This record gives sequence, structure tokens and C-alpha cells, in this order.
Amino acid sequence: MFNFAVISESKETRARAGVMKTSHGVVETPVFMPVGTLASVKSLSPEEIAEAGANIILGNTYHLYLRPGCDVINLFSGLHGFMNWSGPILTDSGGFQAFSLAKLSKITEEGYTFQSHIDGSSHILTPEKAVEIQLSLGSDIMMCLDQCIKYPAEKKEAGSAADLTTEWAGRCKKAWQEKGESKNALFGIVQGGMYKDLREKSARDLVKMEFSGYALGGLSVGEPVEIMLDIADYALPCLPGEKPKYVMGVGTPENLVELVALGADMFDCVLPTRNARNGQMFTGRGTINICNSRFKYDTKPVEEGCLCYTCRNYSGAYLRHLFMAKEILAYRLNTIHNVYYYTKLMRDMRAAILNDAFEVFRKEFYRKRHEA
Ligand SMILES: [Zn+2]
Repeated sequence: MFNFAVISESKETRARAGVMKTSHGVVETPVFMPVGTLASVKSLSPEEIAEAGANIILGNTYHLYLRPGCDVINLFSGLHGFMNWSGPILTDSGGFQAFSLAKLSKITEEGYTFQSHIDGSSHILTPEKAVEIQLSLGSDIMMCLDQCIKYPAEKKEAGSAADLTTEWAGRCKKAWQEKGESKNALFGIVQGGMYKDLREKSARDLVKMEFSGYALGGLSVGEPVEIMLDIADYALPCLPGEKPKYVMGVGTPENLVELVALGADMFDCVLPTRNARNGQMFTGRGTINICNSRFKYDTKPVEEGCLCYTCRNYSGAYLRHLFMAKEILAYRLNTIHNVYYYTKLMRDMRAAILNDAFEVFRKEFYRKRHEA
């Protein structure tokens, strides 16, 4: 059910356009996936998510497993039915939250043991369990359980985390094959911290196991952006060209443009949605804060020419008023614009790649972004 094909490659950079087929529809790449942590892209209905231009979203395994729990989601035959989203869904493995959010989190060869951040109940998340939960969520693209590390990390620690991630990837693949669920894709995650040789080894070991696609994990964890791009520049070509390449948890519009130029196909990040709720809005002419007094009497939309629902119908002055008054409509309208901006940025990059004009696009993107 899952397949991916590159249909065009930029001649001057490694940017590429592709088509990914999943059980719930076709995804054109490069693509940005809004984060729907708790079976909701915060403040938006599924119709609004689609209207804002997103056709694949991300769900968080750790959160959904703890609340509402798989027994509830099973009543709806998975996440699609539960949240009424008919498009593709990618789920993470739960490892990152078990590591960063849960209480008393411990990693052994077996998996993560942790206590729920909600009610303190004890759990163990093994590679097999991560696959089992994601299968019951009905995820179109599942991720292998990986071992996350803090930044900065010593090489020894990064190396042993990458090795354990590889071992867990093998167990995830076995569990996936035993279920015979070929309609769900399974991606391997490259780890190795900020060490190129470790990243290369991690990629090589995973590629031997043959996954549906590959991700770079453990980036954008506090390192300077130059290091993040340097590691991605090195690690992305270590992955097979015919498979989708996903850079997890990144980033700003500038990060996305640079990573697409380095050959990445898929992205997710809380930035457009979380920042919308803090009044930050992304536009082609720079990132703005709607609190700014310059919007007080602004009768124009926040981004002139933007075709999103928010900009077609509301002024900067109205959005500023809603935000200052803490009206809940503010969160929704700001989120609609930001998701639209991110998904349109990806569509524009794709069009530029197809026209073999990616470098022209990139120059123009920076020229305009610096105008604000
Ligand atoms: Zn807009």
C-alpha cells in the first residue's frame, strides 16, 4: 500500500519533489505535517486543517496511549475514525515524550520504563509495544522506537544510544512483519548526536534492515542551527535516494528551505501551531507578533495576498484585538494562517523544484523574508 517515487530533482541543489502513496491518500513532497498531539491540531477542526492546506498530520503515540487510551480509540477502529480525519497520519513512537515528559523515565535494553505525567501510573514502552500501539492507532506511517539523548552529549553516550536504536529498530521491524500489516509503513530513525561518523554508521545499519523510509532524529534539540544543517548535510546522502527522508521536529521556515535544499522530503514541528497561540505569525515578509502596536489600526490582513481563510476575511487590527482580549477565536485564526503559510511554503518549493528553479526560489524567499 505504501510507496514513494521521486519525480523531479533540482540540478543545483539536492532538493527533490516526490509522490508518496499511503492507505489514506497521496502526499506530495516536500511536505510539512502539522502536529496533532492529542488527536487534534490544537484549535482546528479536520475541515479547517484540510482547508489550511495540510493533507497529512502527525499524532503522538505517548499521549494517545495514556489518554484516552487504545481501548477508546479501538472503538473507532483507529485514530482516523476517532478524530474524523480521513487523510494520512504519521505517528511518532512515543520515545521522545517517554524520555522528556514522563516522570522517573529509565532506559534499559528492554525499552523505556516511566510514570505517566498525568496520573503517575507505571508503564513500559518496548519496541514491540511501540509498534503494537501505532498499529492500533491505524497510523499510515509508524516510527521505530529510538533512544533520545540530551544535547550536548559525549560521543560514548551518543554511540551507545545509536546502537540501542539500531537494535530496537530490528525488533520493531520484526514485530511489524509478524503482524503482516503491510498497509502501515514503518520508518527507521537515524541517531548519533552531532557526530558524523556515528550518524553514518546508524544510517548504514538501518538501511541494511530495509525500512519504508528513514528519519533523522535528535536534531533541533538545542544545537546551533549551523550544526543541525551540517549534520543533515552529511547524514541525508547516507540514506537511499529512492526512499522518503524525514527530518523530525524541525523547524523555522528558513530551516525548511535549507533542509529541502539538502534533500529532505518530510517535516513536522510545533512552531506554526504553538507560536500561533502565542501571537506569532509567519509571513513571506518575516515573522510578526500580532501584539505589536503597529497592528492596532491595521485594516489590512496580516499578509496581503495570502489566500488563507483568516487573511481573506479579517484584518490585522481584528486579530490583534482578539489576541489582546484572549478571545479563543484568536488561537484558531492565527493557527489557520500559520498552517497555511507553512503548507504553501512547501507547495511553492515543490513547484520551484518541478520548474528546476529552486535556487531562484531560495534567493527570492530570503530577499522577501528580510523585508519585515
Ligand atoms: Zn493568511
